[in-house]
Amino acid sequence: MAIQHLADKLVLVTGAGSGIGFEIARHFAAQGAKLLLVDINDVILEVARQKICTTGADCHIYRVDVSDPEAMHDLSVRVQAEHGVLDVLVNNAGIAFLGSFRATPLAQWRRTLDINVMGVVHGCHYFLPDMLKAGGARHIVNIASAAGLAATANMSAYSASKHAIVGLSDCLALELSGSSVAISVVCPGVINTPIAQFSGSNVGKNISVEQVARLGEYYRIQGAAPSVVGAAVVDAVRTGKSLVLVGPFAALIYHLRRLSRTLLHKILVKESKKMGWL
Ligand code: NAD
Repeated sequence: MAIQHLADKLVLVTGAGSGIGFEIARHFAAQGAKLLLVDINDVILEVARQKICTTGADCHIYRVDVSDPEAMHDLSVRVQAEHGVLDVLVNNAGIAFLGSFRATPLAQWRRTLDINVMGVVHGCHYFLPDMLKAGGARHIVNIASAAGLAATANMSAYSASKHAIVGLSDCLALELSGSSVAISVVCPGVINTPIAQFSGSNVGKNISVEQVARLGEYYRIQGAAPSVVGAAVVDAVRTGKSLVLVGPFAALIYHLRRLSRTLLHKILVKESKKMGWL
């Protein structure tokens, strides 16, 4: 069931302090929705709140780590008490680690899966029951990635986490078919946001300083603005679209994989060599 009119609808966005999450919140606010912004970083969260409030939207912030089940449980209780049942939940918060499989420490695997996978699981686990019980058209949007559709060199933990989100979203859509809660999974391509500014413990030992700089430059030049994802998410909720392919290369990767995994593999090897990843 699509939600065509978003005025006064209650929308919660995780990872809303920056990049794609902020733009998703801004686009819902422009439709007259009431926004609940969640992020682990309270400084950028407050900046985001002020920017959204200046548009005249009703906006509230919550500093929460999505990977923490107790904190997410407490958030769901607080939101229910302070605002009622969500109309739209956007599970967007995510991180990335840059490094080959052999240069990815187990601690980085755990951190990536805790935030990118369990963060989404926690959002669905704690908010879905009330959304189902309340009835009426409601929507959960999970932000995966084009890296959830195909291999990405030097990003095996990230790519695995995003494949999990595509799979989880498909399972939820199946189990919730015929219910009042719709599911969308969003696979953005290359989007120019701070996630591509890799440094410190987010970079594996096989990656040089020059490679990090080159990747940052690539995102700046090739990356679409995060607002294209914000607009696409609002459109998905208003039209009930289940799969959203948005930004450079997302649709191309999706269709190539459907056509031939072997062909896609050959293209990915060639492109990864060109980028100096292999
Ligand atoms: P970003 O770094 O600009 O924003 C991510 C936000 O999530 C930040 O505000 C950060 O503080 C927050 N966050 C991180 N860990 C958190 C936690 N444990 N709990 C709560 N909040 C947390 O990055 P972005 O590019 O806007 O990424 C948003 C989502 O889009 C991510 O899931 C990312 O994987 C996905 N994505 C991004 C791209 C891209 O090219 N930028 C492409 C495909 C998918």
